[in-house]
Amino acid sequence: MTTDRPLPPATPAAVRLERLAKTFDGGVRAVDGVDLEVHEGEFFALLGPSGSGKTTLLRLVAGFETPTSGRILLGGADVSRLPPFDRDVNTVFQDYALFPHMTVVQNVGYSLAVRRVPKAERTRRVRAALATVRLDGFEQRRPSQLSGGQRQRVALARALINRPKVLLLDEPLGALDLKLRHDMQLELKQLQREVGITFLLVTHDQEEALTMSDRVAVVNAGRIEQVGSPADVYERPATAFVAGFVGTSNLLDGPAAERVVGEAGLFSIRPEKIRLTRPDAPAGPHELSASGRVAEVVYAGGHTRLLVDLEVGARLTAVQQNAEDVADVMRRRGQAVVLAWQRKHTVRVGR
Ligand code: ATP
Repeated sequence: MTTDRPLPPATPAAVRLERLAKTFDGGVRAVDGVDLEVHEGEFFALLGPSGSGKTTLLRLVAGFETPTSGRILLGGADVSRLPPFDRDVNTVFQDYALFPHMTVVQNVGYSLAVRRVPKAERTRRVRAALATVRLDGFEQRRPSQLSGGQRQRVALARALINRPKVLLLDEPLGALDLKLRHDMQLELKQLQREVGITFLLVTHDQEEALTMSDRVAVVNAGRIEQVGSPADVYERPATAFVAGFVGTSNLLDGPAAERVVGEAGLFSIRPEKIRLTRPDAPAGPHELSASGRVAEVVYAGGHTRLLVDLEVGARLTAVQQNAEDVADVMRRRGQAVVLAWQRKHTVRVGR
């Protein structure tokens, strides 16, 4: 006999949230009934705008907040009412929360010292943790004598030294400049693979979530709008909010949608799927097309964005790689153009 039901997972989820809700005094419903499963060994991102409830979700998992209702399970065990130190998780905060008067070694070994782990073992484990984050040679420095990226690594080493089941990271790269952030994104991903610990990361930066994570949950107003792989969430956004927050909002709605797509509804088209053709060039057999005029040309280094006002009364953004002479693209402002894209790249989204 065959069945469509999926097999139960061999191991319980690293983190499981059931109808989790948190209302603060004053009535702010920061987390509004969240169901979520994060698998063992996964790099998982909670992605959403400021105030959407990501940090509150993370603090609930860490135990710094108590839920108003719902449950939190770690490795299958209900920890909803346990204090932070009884949960097998560790948190890396955005400001790193390092002790300024302590050296790198003292910061990283602090929790072991508190638990009276013998000196020899402590030294061995601190050394191993510093090697993991590539900070050998910095043992005796204080936080003020380190760069932002190095402080970030100290915070990581301190969180990893207890080998938690789950590492919680709240905007861990937020304080770094763009170049360093890009480097650290790769390093963090590599580190996660090496240590094999489940990472649950909070970020408002879509690029960060897409480049580092195995899966992403898009959070909006205390709820999860979509969970999926980075490619799922980007290529097949479930709602208009996801389409706009993860990428450029490029939507066809109302009469414009009916005329271009041939159906009523709300549709998202990613800018890089759209090609510009001349008004007299026919669209392909599997393509949709719409004519309009280029309203803006925005040069962005590697690519150029063209904002096109369609005759049907909508504005779409198209992206062109700057492989050819950039001056040609820049001259497009004001020109009549036809936009064409594959029908399969027209994604129906919820409101
Ligand atoms: P950011 O990216 O800006 O940190 P966030 O998505 O992490 O935002 P939260 O910090 O979780 O959002 O906040 C969600 C909502 O809950 C916000 O409206 C916030 O003002 C509110 N909130 C958070 N903490 C408290 C608190 N201790 N008391 C009252 N309201 C709070």
